Amino acid sequence: MSSPSPPHDERRVAAIGAGLDAVRARIEAGCSAVGRNPAEVTLIVVTKTYPARDVIALRGLGVSDVGENRDQEASVKRVEVDDIAGAADVRAPGSVNWHMIGRLQTNKCRSVASWADAVHSLDRLRVVDALDRASLEAGRRIPALIQVSLDDDPDRGGAAPADVERMAERIADSEALDLKGVMAVAPLGVDPPVAFARLAGIAERLRQDHPGAGWISAGMSQDLEAALAAGATHVRVGSAVLGARPALR
Ligand SMILES: *Cc1c(COP(=O)(O)O)cnc(C)c1O
Repeated sequence: MSSPSPPHDERRVAAIGAGLDAVRARIEAGCSAVGRNPAEVTLIVVTKTYPARDVIALRGLGVSDVGENRDQEASVKRVEVDDIAGAADVRAPGSVNWHMIGRLQTNKCRSVASWADAVHSLDRLRVVDALDRASLEAGRRIPALIQVSLDDDPDRGGAAPADVERMAERIADSEALDLKGVMAVAPLGVDPPVAFARLAGIAERLRQDHPGAGWISAGMSQDLEAALAAGATHVRVGSAVLGARPALR
């Protein structure tokens, strides 16, 4: 008889644990280098391309937050995790928060509002409106961040810095979204410290009008120290914890 949820390979769990220890040590060192308290930083382990059982393993290792970049993959995975873990404790303390960190399409907002506990990638007014409506229909309040483009190339996703204030007003005026802050990916060809310093300036201006918008979501496997030095409150780390992903994305 085949079991629907085989016990997790012990070697895989040990490898994830080792990756996690290494990243946690980097966060501690990166914070202490700039006099910050690592307790202010949330580690979001990016689980895209990795299976539900890795999310379960992460939970067992004390990870409270995971990130996904595709609606279709994430919505299925969350259901699988909830099935494996037991639906009863899905929202219980200690269960995992799911962060949407990928490009949003208006026609996916209804689905995203069903599984995401926070959305980092709002980058245009149309998706703000669509996610707001969807969250309202789902009866949920969703923490929302504005993704900022730091290379002035709108094709790569992210709002132009000049549009951040207008987007912030729209989110602040929404029915079901809570404006939490900003998110960015360091662009190719720009020194991460330079990119993240620019993001920190944008975040600071945003907080003047929106004091509750204190999240700065920045830093990935390659550049999390630079992001921590610039004040990141949420780092999004995938490959350094889970291993290199297949090259398809
Ligand atoms: C994949 C992804 C990450 C994690 O990248 P790693 O290099 O694997 O740490 C972080 N942020 C976003 C938006 C991503 O798509």
